[in-house]
Amino acid sequence: MATTGKSAAISHVGKVRANNQDSGYAGTHLFVVADGMGGHAGGDVASAIAIKRIVETDREYTSAEDAEYALKSALLAANAQLAETVFEHTELTGMGTTVSAILRVGSKIALAHIGDSRIYLLRDDELSQVTADHTFVQRLVDSGRITQEEAAVHPRRSVLMRVLGDVDSSPEIDTTVLEVRPGDKWLLCSDGLSSYVSDERIAAILREWKAPRDAADRLVRESLDAGAPDNVTVVIATVDDGDSSASSPTVLVGSAAAPLSFEPEVSRRPLRLPTLLLHPLRPTPPEPEHFEPESEEYLDELILEDRRRARNRRIAWLVAIALAAIALAVALVLAYQWTQTRYFVGATGQTVAIYQGVQADIGPLSLSTVYEETSITLESLPSYTRQTVEGTISADSLAQARAIIDRLSIVSSD
Ligand code: CA
Repeated sequence: MATTGKSAAISHVGKVRANNQDSGYAGTHLFVVADGMGGHAGGDVASAIAIKRIVETDREYTSAEDAEYALKSALLAANAQLAETVFEHTELTGMGTTVSAILRVGSKIALAHIGDSRIYLLRDDELSQVTADHTFVQRLVDSGRITQEEAAVHPRRSVLMRVLGDVDSSPEIDTTVLEVRPGDKWLLCSDGLSSYVSDERIAAILREWKAPRDAADRLVRESLDAGAPDNVTVVIATVDDGDSSASSPTVLVGSAAAPLSFEPEVSRRPLRLPTLLLHPLRPTPPEPEHFEPESEEYLDELILEDRRRARNRRIAWLVAIALAAIALAVALVLAYQWTQTRYFVGATGQTVAIYQGVQADIGPLSLSTVYEETSITLESLPSYTRQTVEGTISADSLAQARAIIDRLSIVSSD
């Protein structure tokens, strides 16, 4: 019976956000992360309320199915509690939270999940993502509309399709029961980790580090090194052979670890301005948002809107390129027309001629043509004059060019 293990939980505000809206818990049987959202107030309240309610399920169960049921019930109860809180504190309207939780029962775990926090499992050195993101972009990936790579930079990547909050009285929660094995390393994290640290790095760190606390430290450090634009929360639980009796102490981290306060963060947190000043170049990640789930029509509408926007952007680009091309063409025509008001005297073969244009070539394009040939031969000119003609003599007008020819004919010996 693989019932024991070590665990660790760390939550960091990150380098950009003013407050920590994540919460995490590593207990005896239960491990949870919750990532709150709610604009400038409420996100921290939402994740704290959810975690505090779900923590009540941290006890022994006779079966994993019982634990699964208890977890699901706790998430639904947390959802109802969030709605009640919003009812009493209307300024918190729109707050919500993700929850990803595992509850260990003997050689099994019960899992409950809603939102875009993630549960990973490292087993036999292979990392797998156990949960699916309940995001708009994941839907697009699942339906083959975009690739995973496109999803990572999609403008709507922070839009959640499902969360606990005041929106839906019966949110769709994923639950399952899975086998655990000695040597398993279970990682629960908020998107502050998974959006900024690659699965490859996560896998490498989990493989490398034996102690959960070290691995958690390393993972948070990795996110900080990547700029940590978002709150980052990491909970790690390992599964041992069962002969280890000392399990890790229970840890509560993030906003759930602080006293619950319903004041809007603007009055509570004067830190926002200095934070922005300290990191003026670091963009804050898009605030997570949630829209009324679950209608397919609305999803289709959003996809259409995204396509419209993409098309409009393309059209704007094409128009800009076309306008630039037209401006360039007009400038070239005007420049060419100006060159054709100019004349010069030069040699064509062995005789002197008046040229129209300027003595320059653009690639194969010559900007001058012979306008008028004369009977004056180069041979007939004094050597200095001949060299001058060969080097060309520019004229402001046709009349001036003809005057030059008149002077040449005087010095000509023909
Ligand atoms: Ca987040």
